[in-house]
Amino acid sequence: MSQPTALQTSGKTATFEKLKCRECGTEYELQAKHICEDVCFGPLEVSYNYDALRSSVTRESIEAGPNSIWRYRPFLPVLTDNPIDVGTGMTPLVKSNRLARRLGLKNLYIKNDAVNMPTLSFKDRVVSVALTRAKELGFSTVSCASTGNLANSTAAIAAYAGLDCCVFIPADLEAGKVLGTLIYNPTLMAVKGNYDQVNRLCCEVANSHGWGFVNINLRPYYSEGSKTLGFEVAEQLGWQLPDHIVAPLASGSLFTKIYKGFQEFVKVGLVEDKNVRFSGAQAEGCSPIAQAFREGRDFVTPVKPNTIAKSIAIGNPADGIYALEVARKTNGNIESVNDAEIIEGIKLLAETEGIFTETAGGTTVAVLKKLVEAGKIDPEETTVVYITGNGLKTQEAVQGYIGEPLVIEPKLDSFEQALERARTLDRLEWQQVLV
Ligand SMILES: *Cc1c(COP(=O)(O)O)cnc(C)c1O
Ligand SMILES: [Zn+2]
Repeated sequence: MSQPTALQTSGKTATFEKLKCRECGTEYELQAKHICEDVCFGPLEVSYNYDALRSSVTRESIEAGPNSIWRYRPFLPVLTDNPIDVGTGMTPLVKSNRLARRLGLKNLYIKNDAVNMPTLSFKDRVVSVALTRAKELGFSTVSCASTGNLANSTAAIAAYAGLDCCVFIPADLEAGKVLGTLIYNPTLMAVKGNYDQVNRLCCEVANSHGWGFVNINLRPYYSEGSKTLGFEVAEQLGWQLPDHIVAPLASGSLFTKIYKGFQEFVKVGLVEDKNVRFSGAQAEGCSPIAQAFREGRDFVTPVKPNTIAKSIAIGNPADGIYALEVARKTNGNIESVNDAEIIEGIKLLAETEGIFTETAGGTTVAVLKKLVEAGKIDPEETTVVYITGNGLKTQEAVQGYIGEPLVIEPKLDSFEQALERARTLDRLEWQQVLV
């Protein structure tokens, strides 16, 4: 099967124009292509007509749009007026009280994509955009190389959109991620290898089968979906940019696209310019970008992942060098934390804010804490921490590190005895904390 390239036009002027190489600037037609094949093999990115956007988009026009990522449709690379809208986006931006106080911060916000729709991670944003574009480009089968959440999201949204779906994951993923894919009945390939090996295989399949791989040949469109994490925060802060953001890094795409989203809002006059500091979080067991940052390198050396934070375990990150660039030029940081700190991060967020996040969120909270303790986040800064996935999908990670239920007889005295024991234990724990 050959790759479809025809564009369905809806008769109105598109705000996106070309695919453009990030390295050499060579332009390509808006097809399913992600690499500058003619010149330098750099990554392609979607370019827009910002004059058209400036004259057609206002705060009011956005506010009058749907309660989903599609309120920002002019900033997304699709033509249709009927995008795949499963309610993705517009997740809560929560003002943190108790976590902020615990860390000594005055203006901390949590962007909670642990409750994103339909599959409880930020990946629903990028997949909603990629599959809408896949349909416009005429693909009938969609696919992805996934660390878990992307497989969930691609399978679910393909089911909704009536697209055939074949997804690839590393064979050792968490049970919740595997079940949370299979329930939508795609073809699921569990590859005996790590994500980077899965991805390499998928690049070959993309060339030979003519499928739309959301994060390979459709990657320029897919990655634009992450800009909505920037747009929403700016809108939810009352059309202002924050001072500092902390977000997890896998391929580095999400991080760089939040930056692009803020820049675009400034460019078209929706918010005032500000130097937002960008800080990135990685797990020590897979921290090629953090290592490069620490060592002052402008290249990223691939590593072999070994961490419980599987959703962000990409050893050879496609957008690593651009993430480095963003952190450096905004006076941010890129830090890593170990698996024990990640578990503590998950528990800390749950106990202080009532939000159960997965390992990627635990990584981000633990890095936030580390940066505050190192004096790298000012307590006065308006800081937004991005929680990108849900803890119910990675229950193995905290198994054995949390309490147990008190098993009692269905009798009042059994309850009273158990309560007394629990309180005594609590007091003992408190005494240990105090001494
Ligand atoms: C994929 C993923 C990320 C990071 O994505 P990149 O854009 O590749 O950096 C972060 N958090 C979660 C939960 C993810 O699934
Ligand atoms: Zn190029």
